[in-house]
Amino acid sequence: MDELTAANLVKEARAAAAAGDITEAERLTRRSLEIWPDNKEAWLLLAAFLADVDEKRSAIKRALAIDPFYEEAKAALARLDGHSEAEDEPEALYCANHPERETMLRCNKCNKPICMECAIQTPVGYRCPECVREQQDKFYTAELSDQTKGYIAAAFSGFALGLLAILLNMFLAGFFGWLIAFFVGSALGGALSEVIWRATGRKRARGFNARATGLVVLMAGLMVLGSMGLFGRLPITAAIALFTAASAIYARLR
Ligand SMILES: [Zn+2]
Ligand SMILES: [Zn+2]
Repeated sequence: MDELTAANLVKEARAAAAAGDITEAERLTRRSLEIWPDNKEAWLLLAAFLADVDEKRSAIKRALAIDPFYEEAKAALARLDGHSEAEDEPEALYCANHPERETMLRCNKCNKPICMECAIQTPVGYRCPECVREQQDKFYTAELSDQTKGYIAAAFSGFALGLLAILLNMFLAGFFGWLIAFFVGSALGGALSEVIWRATGRKRARGFNARATGLVVLMAGLMVLGSMGLFGRLPITAAIALFTAASAIYARLR
């Protein structure tokens, strides 16, 4: 209860200081400290309101007597003693991968100094290449056997896509034909990406999506080219179906 009263007095003191009444702020802080003398924040606050350097110093020292590891009080004392420049100036860091390069940056995961070239910007801040790779390894868990199943599924997917593209191209042309090819292509691409994703056991591998998509396109593309004689026209409808399916697969496998 007393601590609550003391804390409220500190709040009032801050309000008084914010309003520019430092004398009142000092008085309120002192009253608060009479009730709760072990409040280190209040001692540091009091130091801020005192004009006399020696009084300031002794108030900060009271805060440090309560908590010797009170960083803000240590910093305040250092500032008061004129060590502020030496304290605040960061020591020179050198990139862990390029020892000749001075830098101010650290990896925000392992805290290792890194230069701008080594730093990789991630959604959670700058990281070193090693930490990024470690993070990726947790993400890319597909074994070779999983990947092989994925490539087999991709080959079959390419075959299915090739067949569909050929059929579409035989029966559809012109704007509406292309529009239908666009929608059918992206729908089939979505379904095929699911098939490939399941075939890998829902695991990822570095670069797998690009290679699997390439395999699908290669397979389907060769089939379309081999059937050119059937169409009697340019395989534009087939190309649209292929392209939309491939982009759907590439995006979904990522
Ligand atoms: Zn790191
Ligand atoms: Zn570097």
